[in-house]
Amino acid sequence: MRPLSYVRAESVEDAIAFVSADPHSAFLAGGTTEVDLVRLGVERPDLLVDINRLPLDLVEELPGGGLRIGALARMSDVAHEPIVRERYPGISQALLLGASEQLRNMASIGGNLCQRTRCAYFRDDLSPCNKREPGSGCSALEGLNRGHAILGTSESCIATHPSDLAVPLVAFDAVVHTIGPGGARSLAIDDFYLLPGETPEVEHPLEHGELIAAIELPPLALARDSLYLKFRDRQSYEFALVSVLAAVEVRDGAIADVRLGLGGVGTKPWRARRAEAELLGAPATAASFAAAAAAELEPAQLREHNAFKRPLAERAIVRGLTAALRGGGRMNGALP
Ligand SMILES: Cc1cc2nc3c(=O)[nH]c(=O)nc-3n(C[C@H](O)[C@H](O)[C@H](O)COP(=O)(O)OP(=O)(O)OC[C@H]3O[C@@H](n4cnc5c(N)ncnc54)[C@H](O)[C@@H]3O)c2cc1C
Ligand code: SF4
Repeated sequence: MRPLSYVRAESVEDAIAFVSADPHSAFLAGGTTEVDLVRLGVERPDLLVDINRLPLDLVEELPGGGLRIGALARMSDVAHEPIVRERYPGISQALLLGASEQLRNMASIGGNLCQRTRCAYFRDDLSPCNKREPGSGCSALEGLNRGHAILGTSESCIATHPSDLAVPLVAFDAVVHTIGPGGARSLAIDDFYLLPGETPEVEHPLEHGELIAAIELPPLALARDSLYLKFRDRQSYEFALVSVLAAVEVRDGAIADVRLGLGGVGTKPWRARRAEAELLGAPATAASFAAAAAAELEPAQLREHNAFKRPLAERAIVRGLTAALRGGGRMNGALP
């Protein structure tokens, strides 16, 4: 058994200092992912720095109608927060469709965004995996790749990013606020997630010791009617094969604004920009939705077992847009 030290940080400064000082250390929030990965031997920190006592758990309204969600707010608390349900129902739905009640009570927003892929080869330290061990190869390319990505892939890695929450955040242009050894900075969430390219082990631009402090959501009128649909092998306690966040605003019969995010198909939480571009100014009809969905999936790279994701994603987009048009999150008051 490998020895592992634990320390509880009492301030943000301490947390950053502890982790920065030791290249083999990691932050520990709810522990629902980190502890698993340590047990599996996929991550091998020699020090875990518990950040649960840091004052980063508030959900605050911002002037102008936006929201700031502390990185240590729990998934359950954020999902049930009335202001989140009212202004960004797609976020509430994405949170409640993830993991299980017990996990959501422990799991933090920052930890959710930093969770690692569920690719089975990544979690098995005997299999070649470029993400876990750079240069060792990718077992999924010719292996069991049914759950793997079809967009944003490379010959180095085809793993999906598993977060449900990140899908609406990408669609809503959320901003990730961090504090690190070099000070504070803000990153657009779409830039926070990196494509695998030739370095799939680098998933985000955080420096070692850089802490996510909060997520900021800009005011967004159409987000009030957003909705999140998740398609998976079983109805609970399962990651997405395909998921979609849809929000659409129609004026004078034409689409005036639209937000589309996809989960389960991309190597990062996927902003469906091709589809959005097709939809802007188009009539809000099933034919426009289908054409936009086809445009988004056109560059899909299909593998032996995951080709079904392309038609599934296309249908999910059409269904998501159709439901969002009919009232989205408000109509979908029956949260899961
Ligand atoms: C059985 C199971 C099913 C699941 N199903 C789903 C699902 O369907 N959908 C879904 O979205 N998720 C799912 N999850 C993942 C779950 O949502 C995450 O495990 C959880 O959100 C992680 O949060 P945490 O606070 O426990 O993070 P931890 O496990 O404590 O940390 C995770 C990672 O984030 C880092 N970290 C944590 N906080 C910060 C911070 N503030 N700044 C910088 N780095 C930080 C840690 O160092 C670590 O690397 C599932 C998990 C399990 C175990
Ligand atoms: S898909 Fe990525 S995470 Fe999975 S085995 Fe290949 S390199 Fe590893």
